[in-house]
Amino acid sequence: MSKKFFKIVDGCCAKCGAGEFVSEPNQYDILTFSDGQLQVDHTENINDFKIFCRECGVEVEE
Ligand SMILES: [Zn+2]
Repeated sequence: MSKKFFKIVDGCCAKCGAGEFVSEPNQYDILTFSDGQLQVDHTENINDFKIFCRECGVEVEE
């Protein structure tokens, strides 16, 4: 299975040519429901750092 992503060429998305990128948040809170409320149980980190083209949304890599 090959993953669908594009290279960044000369600082631009190889698919649409846009020059702006967004990162995926690499940290999120795990919530549990107790006493009728959502509460933060703990925070997890994602080691995978992913970048997406801001314009077309495709995953890109350097
Ligand atoms: Zn793009």
